[in-house]
Amino acid sequence: MVYGLISDVHGNLEALHSVLAALSRVERLLCLGDIVGYGPNPGECLDALRERPDFTCVAGNHDLAAAGRYDLDLFNPAARAAILWTQEALSAGQRSYLASLPMTAQASGALLVHGSLPEPMEYITGCREARRCFEATDAALCLVGHTHVAEHYRLRPGTRFCEQVSLWSGGLISLQEGLRQIVNVGAVGQPRDGNPQASFGVWDTEAGAIEVRRVAYDVEAVQAKMRQAGLPRALAERLAWGR
Ligand code: ZN
Repeated sequence: MVYGLISDVHGNLEALHSVLAALSRVERLLCLGDIVGYGPNPGECLDALRERPDFTCVAGNHDLAAAGRYDLDLFNPAARAAILWTQEALSAGQRSYLASLPMTAQASGALLVHGSLPEPMEYITGCREARRCFEATDAALCLVGHTHVAEHYRLRPGTRFCEQVSLWSGGLISLQEGLRQIVNVGAVGQPRDGNPQASFGVWDTEAGAIEVRRVAYDVEAVQAKMRQAGLPRALAERLAWGR
């Protein structure tokens, strides 16, 4: 099976189109949450994805917040303003689809969760959180998003060995037997690892490998739409820096 891996699309339709074009040959598409929030085309991104019969997605905090199922006080002022804008931009049907997303999912033995375990909206930013995630699951491979930072953790069960590897310019991960691994494929629609290009992954289960890749998209077009929509300026500006 060849899976496309995406996360944190955040209503960025131009980035999503570039990524889907690069993933045209995959058999299934897995999404690690946050289809909406921040960006100017939440409904269009949601419709482009949910129409696909091969699509599986877990809930992100922005997805649940846009559906009225997550505490807005947990967001900073710019994110909160964007969520309120997103709630207005979505139809009732789109909001109820977001509300129905599961917190976790499985694919070929891997666990899919937006942030971490045991708390799905926690962030994995280091080996301490990576270990805690693995204590809460038997899965050898966890696929996550949420931080908008493409990176990879390798842990050897029963030892203190943990390696954290950046994937800010992409990279090939070998899914070796005996290691437990966490892969964060980075963000499609709002990268924060210093690379403004959209990030995504391709997981080939037969080859036992995940390739994380980056692809350019029209950042300025998205920024112009965000300004036009009255979304917070800082959210538009950060797209150019990938921060
Ligand atoms: Zn996000």
